[in-house]
Amino acid sequence: MINTFNRYKSKFNSHFSRFSMSTSTRPIVISGPSGTGKSTLLKKLFAEYPGKFGFSVSNTTRKPRDGEVNGKDYNFSTVEEFKQLIDEKKFIEWAQFSGNYYGTTIKAVKDVADKGVICLLDIDMQGVKSVKKTDLNARFLFISPPSIEELRKRLTRRGTETDESLERRINAASDEMEYAKLPGSHDKIIINEDLDKAYEEFKKFILEQE
Ligand code: ADP
Ligand code: 5GP
Repeated sequence: MINTFNRYKSKFNSHFSRFSMSTSTRPIVISGPSGTGKSTLLKKLFAEYPGKFGFSVSNTTRKPRDGEVNGKDYNFSTVEEFKQLIDEKKFIEWAQFSGNYYGTTIKAVKDVADKGVICLLDIDMQGVKSVKKTDLNARFLFISPPSIEELRKRLTRRGTETDESLERRINAASDEMEYAKLPGSHDKIIINEDLDKAYEEFKKFILEQE
């Protein structure tokens, strides 16, 4: 799996060197508890810099939320389709999160590389650990909520979760927060309390030169 990935990775990097000389050429992995504000921050970034970044569109078996677009937010798959992709070794990494499968295909990252733009991935802690084992040479950014109580409020307000899935996400959040405390787990941690302030830090990290 990793070998297949490495074969096109050189293409990925050469794209970056040709098109993104003035900014970081490394992919950026954004993680943090569900509900902490990753999608909100990413949406602001894509709106401010159209065409500068590319989102690695993951596959998932979870049901689409209102407003989510297949092929843009996620590639929505059945469990059978997802398992077939696992068997065919199409994933760089995949994980089970809150009762569903999520994964980054080689194609998702290659599609961004082919456009010659900086690749942004939004994945969970298990995905972070897997990507660290590849030589994708990513930078790792963790978005933390101000507290678990505030996270619970955000997830509740978002109105996307059942009581059960909300509890599963809060449990996973504690693990993510513990992992983020380990030295070297991420290159940068941003606490998303005030959205505008968090966005300024987010933008700075992402645009930062190497
Ligand atoms: P994630 O992508 O990390 O799961 P979202 O971007 O969907 O999280 O954000 C979860 C909810 O919290 C959304 O309803 C969003 O509008 C809200 N939110 C995001 N950032 C903040 C913030 N700084 N303060 C208050 N609410 C926020
Ligand atoms: P949500 O269901 O809220 O969109 O996402 C739930 C969690 O799955 C989030 O932490 C998100 O970062 C993570 N996630 C999304 N795509 C992937 C992926 O491709 N791989 C992994 N490991 N996690 C993912």
